[in-house]
Amino acid sequence: MRKFCDNCGTMYESDNPRKNLCDECLAKDKADYRLVKDFLMKYPGSNMFEVSNHTGVSIKRIKKFIEEDRVQVMEDE
Ligand SMILES: [Zn+2]
Repeated sequence: MRKFCDNCGTMYESDNPRKNLCDECLAKDKADYRLVKDFLMKYPGSNMFEVSNHTGVSIKRIKKFIEEDRVQVMEDE
């Protein structure tokens, strides 16, 4: 199936309906996820702004991890 990457808009082939990123962005996504996860292991209870500041991963991407239930961070009120 021909799809467009959610992140960069590149067209790619995928048969996985749950996959919405091209290979390049998927690799970056995994690297970012690892950074966020590692940070939260060291500093549990951090909010997404602290996580973003310390890991360099964008708020937008961290929100996506949260939406996907991949990480849990404190929501800033
Ligand atoms: Zn992409």
